[in-house]
Amino acid sequence: MSDTELVLRSTRVITPEGTRPASVAVVDGKIAAVLPYDAEVLSGVRLEDLGDDVLLPGLVDTHVHVNDPGRTEWEGFWTATRAAAAGGITSLVDMPLNSLPPTTTVDHLRTKQEVAADKAHIDVGFWGGALPDNVKDLRPLHESGVFGFKAFLSPSGVDEFPHLDQDGLARSLAEIASFGGLLIVHAEDPHHLEAAPQQAGPKYADFLASRPRDAEDTAIAQLIAQAKRLDARVHVLHLSSSAALPLIAQAKAEGVRITVETCPHYLTLTAEEVPDGASEFKCCPPIRESANQDLLWQALADGTIDCVVTDHSPSTADLKTGDFATAWGGISGLQLSLAAVWTAARKRGHSLEDVVRWMSARTAELVGLDARKGAIEAGRDADFAVLAPDETFTVDPAALQHRNRVTAYAGKTLHGVVKSTWLRGERIVANGEFTAPKGRLLTRTP
Ligand SMILES: [Zn+2]
Repeated sequence: MSDTELVLRSTRVITPEGTRPASVAVVDGKIAAVLPYDAEVLSGVRLEDLGDDVLLPGLVDTHVHVNDPGRTEWEGFWTATRAAAAGGITSLVDMPLNSLPPTTTVDHLRTKQEVAADKAHIDVGFWGGALPDNVKDLRPLHESGVFGFKAFLSPSGVDEFPHLDQDGLARSLAEIASFGGLLIVHAEDPHHLEAAPQQAGPKYADFLASRPRDAEDTAIAQLIAQAKRLDARVHVLHLSSSAALPLIAQAKAEGVRITVETCPHYLTLTAEEVPDGASEFKCCPPIRESANQDLLWQALADGTIDCVVTDHSPSTADLKTGDFATAWGGISGLQLSLAAVWTAARKRGHSLEDVVRWMSARTAELVGLDARKGAIEAGRDADFAVLAPDETFTVDPAALQHRNRVTAYAGKTLHGVVKSTWLRGERIVANGEFTAPKGRLLTRTP
């Protein structure tokens, strides 16, 4: 390969066919070939010998709240994409809220793309938002390259992003189905939330009781019914309730076009361990009990849950009050997601290949980026993470790159140190040192 610019060599390269010693040749920022480990490297070609560190495809995180512009005191493209890069993530898709404006019209999308363009250290794409009053904006947004549309079925937490009732859901979903789009849904039923006991204060058990499983289960059942009726494609965001898994498995078996994600915090943290007042653990739906978590892992293993994404949703530290009823709900996980999931996965007997499937291949598929991202094979972008899977580190909030260093993982010892992250054949971070931003804007490819 005469025009090869770079060869990355490792005894452990994770490819779609398994993990093996290999040399990965990069040309023009793309993977040109996955060659035998001892393939000859011509003189003049740069060789990066990674030894026994694992070369894996850069992660694709399809659920991130960057909040830029508008709530940049919470987060922003510069800080979020640095945190992501430090954690081995090379592509993210930004949620349509809590930025101002929200991504609910083409003009708003343009505003967000402009803001992201020169701050992104990794590739960045956008979800649109489906609100009660923007059905007419959905098709233009789709044609402008958003990857799909997010809707809430219960209050979102911010006034500018109202939720859809069942009629609104039917209207938006019918429109989205008419152009073959994807609706992604925060599935908690507002009536079940209203009926649940609402006890303010520092006790996690009270918060958990206020967001019961049946709120999720009911909303998911309704979503499945609508998807079936309209033959529409839907995706359940941040599944927490294991009780919804049989419904989802049955819908999949019947051919309903539904996919499901869960998040590192549901897979690695438990309700039992949340100290009183520790609202850095607050998110909606909530982190549930360890028995619930075991069932989520089982569902990942059997494919009922498709993928794992961060739902990185930060705020300023002062909004994380000690009262679970009023504290901002959201967990900041970008930088630690790979290590957190890998640490729990290995204990449960899962392989790093499984983690890569959940956090890179399947998420790339979800947004239709799987011709470009999500695997180490010829033709895809040369996006990589280099991981020392057996090395450990203890989470020090001061070492985190996101804007407000609030974390539910403080003090935990995790397996898996990201040594470097590569975007289109360029090393964008190694040992905490970043290059200038090299991320590009991603759009849906028809
Ligand atoms: Zn979210």
